[in-house]
Amino acid sequence: MSANSAVSIAERLRIDLHSHSTASDGSLTPAALVESAVAAGLRVLALTDHDNTAGISEARAAAEGRGLLLVPGVEVSVTWNSQVTHIVGLRIDPDNTVLQQGLAGLREFRVWRAEEIGRRLAERGIEGALDGARSFAKGEIVGRTHFARWLVQEGFAPDTRRVFERYLVRGKPGHVPGQWASLQDAVGWIRAAGGQAVVAHPGRYKLSASKMAEFLDAFRQAGGEGIEVLSGSQAFSDAPHFAKLARYFGLKGSAGSDYHGPEQTYLALGRLPLLPEGVPAIWQDWPELELAA
Ligand code: AMP
Ligand code: MN
Ligand code: MN
Ligand code: MN
Repeated sequence: MSANSAVSIAERLRIDLHSHSTASDGSLTPAALVESAVAAGLRVLALTDHDNTAGISEARAAAEGRGLLLVPGVEVSVTWNSQVTHIVGLRIDPDNTVLQQGLAGLREFRVWRAEEIGRRLAERGIEGALDGARSFAKGEIVGRTHFARWLVQEGFAPDTRRVFERYLVRGKPGHVPGQWASLQDAVGWIRAAGGQAVVAHPGRYKLSASKMAEFLDAFRQAGGEGIEVLSGSQAFSDAPHFAKLARYFGLKGSAGSDYHGPEQTYLALGRLPLLPEGVPAIWQDWPELELAA
């Protein structure tokens, strides 16, 4: 059990603004993800697949009549200052061409990158990794998570966390550096699609305090609006710190599990605590929330 498990039911949020389906590296189909969210007692769920919105229509249809508001979203891969960061777009119009052209470019890079990961692993004597990763990918995107699942299956490491450490992070054989979207482009595409841009899991980035400030300042100037004060990918005990950053940079607070499926044991759906006091919630002005209340 992680440090994030001790949350009493009475204190839980019924809103989750970050999740993945088989349209990227989640293991549940969009419809199955929605079923799990309903079963977990959620009232609002954002589907935020990596660089892809292909799951949204299925998720929306599945949420219809189930007492769950499905928020169309995306998680855009960004390179800022040589660091990979993720920007979540919420309440996007998935039909927007500016957004779709931007995401298509990132998916094109992903196709080449997957082949390159396969080649690099083969150079280290691991044959068949690309086909293996593809066998775990149920949609267009073949990401590092799919390589990780295959490498675990083949016994190269006991779990995905250790597979990442040994093979897929910077400096390891299967890591392929590359240029994702710029921060300005990612926020621009999200805004062009009528959405709100949110910094995903800020606790995951290896940024010094001054670099984090520079990043949040640039994000705000680009038109970014929110930051994940609560994330399944960072310790809940860090929430007051990110709430403080939110206030300082004039950002609203968001909250998301970063759910990838039931085998991701560190955070189940429906287990986010409430936002800390004093930070405005990104969802506070959403008119559609009254419908789901
Ligand atoms: P990609 O966008 O294909 O480079 O893959 C990034 C994804 O890999 C993240 O969204 C996570 O789902 C997963 N990931 C990244 N780092 C780790 C890690 N250390 N352990 C497990 N999963 C990870
Ligand atoms: Mn992922
Ligand atoms: Mn992410
Ligand atoms: Mn995510």
